[in-house]
Amino acid sequence: MPNVKVEKVTKKFGDFTALEDINLSINDGEYVSIIGPSGCGKTTLLRIIAGIIRDYEGHVYVNGELFDDKPLEKRGIGYVFQNIALFPNMNVGGNVSYSPRAKGFNSDMIRSMTLEMLELMKLTERYYDYPIRLSGGMQQKTALARALASGAKLLLLDEPLSLLDLKVRTELRYELRRIVKDLGLTAIHVTHDQEEAMAISDRIIVMRKARIVEEGTPLSLYLRPKKIFTSYFLGESNVLEGKVMEADDRFLKIDVGSIILKAKNTGFQEGEKVVVMIRPEFIQLANDGVEGVVKKKTMEGLFTRLIVDIKDLKITVKQPYWRVHNIDVYSMVKLEFPEEHILVYEYPERGLYSEISLY
Ligand code: ATP
Repeated sequence: MPNVKVEKVTKKFGDFTALEDINLSINDGEYVSIIGPSGCGKTTLLRIIAGIIRDYEGHVYVNGELFDDKPLEKRGIGYVFQNIALFPNMNVGGNVSYSPRAKGFNSDMIRSMTLEMLELMKLTERYYDYPIRLSGGMQQKTALARALASGAKLLLLDEPLSLLDLKVRTELRYELRRIVKDLGLTAIHVTHDQEEAMAISDRIIVMRKARIVEEGTPLSLYLRPKKIFTSYFLGESNVLEGKVMEADDRFLKIDVGSIILKAKNTGFQEGEKVVVMIRPEFIQLANDGVEGVVKKKTMEGLFTRLIVDIKDLKITVKQPYWRVHNIDVYSMVKLEFPEEHILVYEYPERGLYSEISLY
């Protein structure tokens, strides 16, 4: 069960900085996901840990051993790429058994390891099929089985489930976590799918523009993100600019334009300019709430999304279908903003837009 330490890693491609001063510690047996906008450097970081990119500043340690000059094939890392790289001239069984064969295990062992991984991925019946005959999802599962059969204790997974349909992806994400935990592996998983990251990870690392913004457990990043960007990027948030009208030891009253919101005081003073965030699913419909008019209503699976105008303010609300099924567009609703779910941040020096822009 390896631990990984990335120390002051910077990677430039010509004048372009793909990673800047990345410091990261991943514990034995931890399942960590990396999320962030496209191009923020996630894959570059995985490739550096894997040993595919070798010219970078800083250091990578695995189990305390300096890995910077260690050849890729000696790192004992299983890497599942975004672009699946199965051996086209080998069938599924051949692909999955490649690593045990290369290691010279005896044939019984090779067969049992291969069959175990195929069974885990529900691919046993595809043993004799060549990659060209597999769907994208099956190819991804074969790549996963191959990485697991390699006996690697550290798994680097770059969008490993992205080609699967939603149902299989949802099932397989739990399987993947279970396998990693059962086999005592350490996993670093890059994904665009925030739900996947929330469901699968012990810890999530949020990146933006070549840097790590914040890291924490899925729940802490969802409920109490320390950075505006995290709150904006992970899940969904109403982002409002405001000014503190009143501040006492416990509470704030914040003018966000058309309404005054009450929030817990986490160290703000009267007159301060702030950013206020509240997630759409925490806003409630309540008889004594603030009145607004529903401008848009969309079904999103179990949730229904309402866009509510409160004078000049546009608020997104997400409620279970059954709670809002009889509310039509243009009807009046009353919204309550529970103070325990209102997050207040210092107004960023460089302005709000630069804080939440993705690129
Ligand atoms: P995505 O989520 O879209 O896969 P990412 O966060 O994984 O993106 P990277 O693939 O790490 O991003 O790329 C980070 C930046 O570095 C991108 O702007 C990319 O264009 C650039 N980049 C990556 N590899 C190279 C390369 N070999 N030469 C030049 N630029 C590169």
